[in-house]
Amino acid sequence: MPRTGVFICHCGSNIAGTVDIDKTVEASRNFPGVVHADEYRYLCSEMGQDIITKAIKENDLDRVVVGTCSPRMHENTFRKAAAEAGLNPYLLEVANIREHCSWVHKDMEEATPKAIALLRAAAAKAALNEALEAPRLDVEKRALVIGGGIAGIQAALDIAEAGYVVDIVEKDPSIGGRMAQLEKTFPTLDCSACILTPKMVEAAQHPNINLLTYSEVDEVKGFVGQFDVKIKQKARYVDPVKCTGCGICWEKCPSKASSEFEMGLAKRKSIYVPFAQAVPMVPVIDRDSCLYFRKGRCQICEQECPPQAIDYEQQDEIIERRYGAIVVATGFDQLDPTIYGEYGYGQHPDILTGLEFERIFNASGPTGGKVVKLSDGKPPKKVVFIQCIGSRDKARGMNYCSKICCMYTAKQAILLKEKVPDAKSYVFYIDVRTGGKGYEEFQRRAAEEYDVAYMRGQVGKIFPEDDHLVVRGIDSLTNRNIEIKADMVVLAAATVARADAPEVGRLVGINSDSYHFFNEAHPKLKPVETHTAGIFIAGACQAPKDIPETVSQASAAAVKAIGLLSKEKLQGEACTAEVIQSECSGCLNCEAICPYTAITPVEIEERYKDGVLKRTVAEVNPALCQGCGSCAVTCRSGSINLKGFSNDQIMAEVDAICLQR
Ligand code: FAD
Ligand code: SF4
Ligand code: SF4
Repeated sequence: MPRTGVFICHCGSNIAGTVDIDKTVEASRNFPGVVHADEYRYLCSEMGQDIITKAIKENDLDRVVVGTCSPRMHENTFRKAAAEAGLNPYLLEVANIREHCSWVHKDMEEATPKAIALLRAAAAKAALNEALEAPRLDVEKRALVIGGGIAGIQAALDIAEAGYVVDIVEKDPSIGGRMAQLEKTFPTLDCSACILTPKMVEAAQHPNINLLTYSEVDEVKGFVGQFDVKIKQKARYVDPVKCTGCGICWEKCPSKASSEFEMGLAKRKSIYVPFAQAVPMVPVIDRDSCLYFRKGRCQICEQECPPQAIDYEQQDEIIERRYGAIVVATGFDQLDPTIYGEYGYGQHPDILTGLEFERIFNASGPTGGKVVKLSDGKPPKKVVFIQCIGSRDKARGMNYCSKICCMYTAKQAILLKEKVPDAKSYVFYIDVRTGGKGYEEFQRRAAEEYDVAYMRGQVGKIFPEDDHLVVRGIDSLTNRNIEIKADMVVLAAATVARADAPEVGRLVGINSDSYHFFNEAHPKLKPVETHTAGIFIAGACQAPKDIPETVSQASAAAVKAIGLLSKEKLQGEACTAEVIQSECSGCLNCEAICPYTAITPVEIEERYKDGVLKRTVAEVNPALCQGCGSCAVTCRSGSINLKGFSNDQIMAEVDAICLQR
């Protein structure tokens, strides 16, 4: 018979407010094998852990059950306390009587028996627990950063500065992300390129950073410390070693296509670098528009290229590398405002999104930096900005606040006045949100010094009339209808997750919220970690963010990655699966289901009195197994045992709940 101790935590009033602690302790004393039961206000505190350690020694306990919060929060804390007293840490069980009980019930009469049932189940399981040893695993001293926007660049620089090699995988031909598309940045109005370009160059020149641009992650296998990654490097049709970035090819190329970087507002050549400060300054050929790839003729770039860097035969390449840690920094997109038919986006050239308007300001943008209407090339005299397009709109858009639009709208109104002094800006807003250092002052400057008219209200309709756009709305403070004859309309479209975010999440094994932004492990205490060990998130792929917040988060993710890479060995998973090979039918369903490719077929020999039978069965590699249990539930012959969660242990829990009611 085991000698089990049960310890119940009040968690302040989190548990004690809904669960009758005295009754629970009393009931625990009667569970089979329990020789000691106690309670404390905060078991996770030093005092609380001391209580457990002392009780283990004084009562000669060989099993421990703690009735506390989720094991995600403090299982390790209590395992350490048990180990401190000389007990194997895997002989401790957590009964989650907070998230699974007190937080989901209001009534003490309901919550108390449920807490007792959960504790009884944990004690029944603990009785069958075995001492386990966690393996010690190697750490590959190399990091992968997915996404080369400001988040990815900052994270890579910090990791590289700590002495570790980092690869940045960027799907576009250049690093830089959205920040490269911006003109000036709030709240200081620094030129975006002036502060971003040095970082891009620093990343490219850093001896510890490898840029894998025009590349995407194809496959991620393995686990923390040893992620095996396949990266697809798309063919550029230009040899980056020979290319000097002279620009003759794109100057001479006769073929044009719509520029992705200019959001379709300008053309680029078929051989191109996306923008003037691109890093690397090596062009790519766009096969879809290139005359050679489409029609088999032209080849001007090949003839003109001085170092003969053009290579039409280049193929996509798969690079395979192992990484200890991965930072995901894949950024964001803007909502397509065409879903709001009333704003007429896409139907008139002078109705733009905020990001498109950024390009209009830019000296290398579609208008060469002249703020003019795209319809007739004349400077706009009246510009209407509409905030919250698709943000804070439960019915048709996103329920959340995009966080950056109030500020970049104020910025664009200021920049407009500086470029076109007789222009007047009108801003329709729901609320103006300016949380951030210097932000409130910045927005006030827009209203007070730059004559920007802020109107609380919403726009119902925009339509062209003569040579202007009629904007009809309502001022919700005065309840007056408003009609403005505008020259230009700028829509602050919601910040949304990238369309391929679910695919990226699936590849690296992290989950997302209902809007497809990646989930952090804990919204307050683990903002850059994910539920998959060794994978960190940074920047606007986690939620809408401005640059200062993105950079801080990127450095935080880098620190976490550095902490991991600096370890000589990592503690692996003790609760791994094992195949009872004599019972295995060899169907290998488990091999197909295992997300960590930890299961492989092996041939075994079975001796019978009339001979030897060779057959194929499954085998688990304990170094790869992460103890997810997928194989155990898939195995039809019940021949996979998950250590720490065996079928007997699970059944003992179920029995303890059902049979004692
Ligand atoms: P991104 O800039 O989106 O970079 C992500 C990178 O990851 C991109 O290069 C992308 O190509 C790459 N990527 C995506 N998916 C993959 C994949 N699967 N594989 C490989 N690579 C991938 N903030 C300010 O502080 N001040 C301002 O003045 C300001 N103005 C703004 C104006 C507008 C109109 C907008 C829309 C935003 C503005 N912002 C401003 C916000 C700023 O743009 C963001 O904070 C910043 O770009 C976030 O950086 P990021 O690296 O997280 O994402
Ligand atoms: Fe590179 Fe040749 Fe083009 Fe010059 S002409 S940018 S060297 S590919
Ligand atoms: Fe442009 Fe002709 Fe070269 Fe194609 S082959 S990229 S069309 S110059």
